Amino acid sequence: NEAVSKNFIEQEIDKDLAEGVYDHVCTRFPPEPNGYLHIGHAKSILLNYGLAQEYGGTFHMRFDDTNPTKEKMEFVDSIKEDIQWLGADWGEHLYFASDYFDQMYECAVKLIKKGKAFVCDLTAEEMREYRGTLTEPGKESPYRNRSVEENLRLFEEMRDGKYKDGEKVLRAKIDMASPNINMRDPILYRVAHMTHHNTGDKWCIYPMYDFAHPIEDAIEGITHSICTLEFEDHRPLYDWVVRECEFENPPRQIEFAKLYLTNVVTGKRYIKKLVEDGIVDGWDDPRLVSIAALRRRGFTPESIKMFIDMCGVSKAQSSVDYAMLEYCIREDLKMKKPRMMAVLDPIKLVIDNYPEGETEYLDVANNLENEELGYRKVPFGRELYIEREDFMEEPPKKYFRLFPGNEVRLMHAYFVKCVSFEKDENGNVTTVHCTYDPETKAGSGFTGRKVKGTIHWVPAAYAQKAEVRLYENLIDEEKGVYNKEDGSLNLNPDSLKVIGNAMVEPSFEGAGAYDSFQFVRNGYYCIDAHDSAPDHLVFNRIVSLKSSFKL
Ligand code: ATP
Ligand code: MG
Ligand code: MG
Repeated sequence: NEAVSKNFIEQEIDKDLAEGVYDHVCTRFPPEPNGYLHIGHAKSILLNYGLAQEYGGTFHMRFDDTNPTKEKMEFVDSIKEDIQWLGADWGEHLYFASDYFDQMYECAVKLIKKGKAFVCDLTAEEMREYRGTLTEPGKESPYRNRSVEENLRLFEEMRDGKYKDGEKVLRAKIDMASPNINMRDPILYRVAHMTHHNTGDKWCIYPMYDFAHPIEDAIEGITHSICTLEFEDHRPLYDWVVRECEFENPPRQIEFAKLYLTNVVTGKRYIKKLVEDGIVDGWDDPRLVSIAALRRRGFTPESIKMFIDMCGVSKAQSSVDYAMLEYCIREDLKMKKPRMMAVLDPIKLVIDNYPEGETEYLDVANNLENEELGYRKVPFGRELYIEREDFMEEPPKKYFRLFPGNEVRLMHAYFVKCVSFEKDENGNVTTVHCTYDPETKAGSGFTGRKVKGTIHWVPAAYAQKAEVRLYENLIDEEKGVYNKEDGSLNLNPDSLKVIGNAMVEPSFEGAGAYDSFQFVRNGYYCIDAHDSAPDHLVFNRIVSLKSSFKL
């Protein structure tokens, strides 16, 4: 049953179309350009864009830039880049709310003329007192009964710069006794002598969000104005504005629950603080969940879409496990990416009976689960690097990797048997000596005997040194996001570990920013877009192969 599998917003839209409330669908994504977008915004973008696609409608990209204090062009550019990267195509439909300032002003004048708005001289503090509380009705402002003529003159004077910031505001005349505080004569316009990034010094009065937003939607012909739950109580005011301003075919607001993730910092202002306090290295630090950070970390638009789809849309507030996002990127990369050999903590392996100075080139499948990715040649020789943890002097039970006397397979190559090892003065193993059996070459069809362990390796003579950055969640999972005593973030001190001397096979030539790979037996990694160079490869760990996440 299709109707049942649709989310509640789709059901509302279906109903509106069936009842003829609207004959098409037009949605929008309206960010304020005051920071970078994060994974929560991705939900809103993909939801709005997805609905427009699904119903053959239109998707608008609109900068909600009506508050000049915090807005910057830098953010306008980053937001556009992020939305394009996510694949939400706004086509011709790019808008700036500040382009509607004239129309908003006209709407305010209309309300004054209808006796639905008045200029108020109460101070901010007085206004708070007059507003009342959840249990107490508010009191009417003494300026509420000014004549239309006086209000028109004063509002014009506000616009013309006659008053200082905070001296006068324009308020809606609704109902000071309303149980909904948003309806108690809310402010529509305030005086703010500030330069706006788009309109410069043309205006010294700016509309409030609750007045501006419905007008923006109505001007653009938005049908379904989808926003997050905290605006539910503002919906009566939204409807009041579009009704009293007498827009035809008014839009309707529908609210859904924000996306929250465990163990990471969502929320623009919190991410901003981490950046400003220098706790992370900029807005695209790979430990953040800004879109820019996810991109740099190696997440793909496909993985984010899969994640958002899995989250679903609802009105119930909840937190989603970060491990689900990791599941999605693993799923996306699994078949698409080559599986390479990289050794993060190298020790030498010497094959004593392999001819010195000889190199052979082995055919290695790029991805055993996807033949389409083809093969590559990997050089093999007498000296290799292997992971320190793949050798043990005294192995515990069920350890099937290298130890004295044990035989393992070198992935894509031969069986080798450990004959001896060397240690440095500190007792750390430096070199493992083996012999190999030429009969056992991978792909030769050898079936004479079996080994229980397979380890990967990198040819020493051809290895490339690399820097590898291992990330963990920025937040300490055990303690929760915020410190109970002082409200500070419970940061994980090990959220970044840098490995300076990893060794990778020589097959990364030509790989560039954002390219990603599986490092076999380890995880998925991508080339860091800021710091990697052909002669100094830097990899970010996207996600490890292991997971406790179950679908
Ligand atoms: P933040 O709360 O992180 O500061 P914001 O709401 O201030 O974000 P805006 O630029 O105002 O950011 O938001 C643009 C759109 O993105 C809004 O429609 C908002 O409801 C939506 N949005 C913001 N955060 C989330 C979230 N966590 N989940 C879903 N949608 C979100
Ligand atoms: Mg905001
Ligand atoms: Mg907001």
